Amino acid sequence: MRDIYYRTKKLGDLTVRGASRASIQTFWNVPEYELGLDAGAHPSDFTVKTHRLFITHTHRDHITGLYQYIARRKKTNLAPPEIYVPEYSLEAVSRFLGAFQELDEACYPYTVHGINAGDLIEWQTNDGRTLCVEALETFHRIPSLGYAVYENSVPRLAYTGDTLPDALDLNPVFYEAEILIMEMTASGTGYTPDLIHQYEHTHLQDVLERQNRFKNRWIVAAHFTCKQAFPELCRNVAAHFPDRLGGRLIVW
Ligand SMILES: [Zn+2]
Repeated sequence: MRDIYYRTKKLGDLTVRGASRASIQTFWNVPEYELGLDAGAHPSDFTVKTHRLFITHTHRDHITGLYQYIARRKKTNLAPPEIYVPEYSLEAVSRFLGAFQELDEACYPYTVHGINAGDLIEWQTNDGRTLCVEALETFHRIPSLGYAVYENSVPRLAYTGDTLPDALDLNPVFYEAEILIMEMTASGTGYTPDLIHQYEHTHLQDVLERQNRFKNRWIVAAHFTCKQAFPELCRNVAAHFPDRLGGRLIVW
C-alpha cells in the first residue's frame, strides 16, 4: 500500500525512492541496499527494504517517522532495525523512542548507534552485497552528518543531508559517488545565497559555482523550500542549468 507520497527512480542497477521538502519531510530508501536515509516519514512499503537507517540530523522533518519505522519492522516480523544517528543526539533519540513506546504501551526491538564523522559501518545485505557506509562531516544548525555508501569499495551513493555547501568541498566523495543526493533548499526568487547560508543550507547558486566539479553519473537535487511550487522550481533550475549538467541533474 502506498500510504505516503514519494517518488521512485531507477538509476542504473539501484532504485532511489523518497521525498524531500524543507521543513515538511525528508526520507530516502535504496531497496537493493536495504538502506534508509533520514526518516521524516516512513512509508509502509519501505519497511521490508530498510534494515539499516542513517539519520543526518535530528530536525523534525528528518526524524518524525522513526517510531513508525521501528514499530513496523516488528509488526512485519523483520529483524530489529539498526539506526545510526550523530552521536550527540543518541541519548535524546533513545528518550524519544522510549517515550513513544510508553505512550503506545509497546516494546519494540531496535538498536540506535551514535556515530561521528569518519566512522565506517560495514555489513552484508541479505542478497550478499558487501557495503560500507562512511559518516561525513557536514555543516548545519545542529550537529549533522552526511553519508557515502561504498559497494566493494566503490562509492555508489552519497547523501549530503542538510548542510552549507562547504561540506561538498570538504568531502570529495560527494563529487565522485555514482549517485549524489544533494540538498538545494533554494533555487532563487526571494532567497539570496546569504540568507540561505544563515540557515546553513545550500542555494542553487552554490551548485552553479561548483558545476564543473561534479563527476557523478546522477545528481539528485532535493530538499527545496516548500514555499515554491514544483513547476516553478523546475523552471528556475532549468533556467540556470539549461543542459541539466549534461542530463545528469534530477530535480526531485
Ligand atoms: Zn535541518
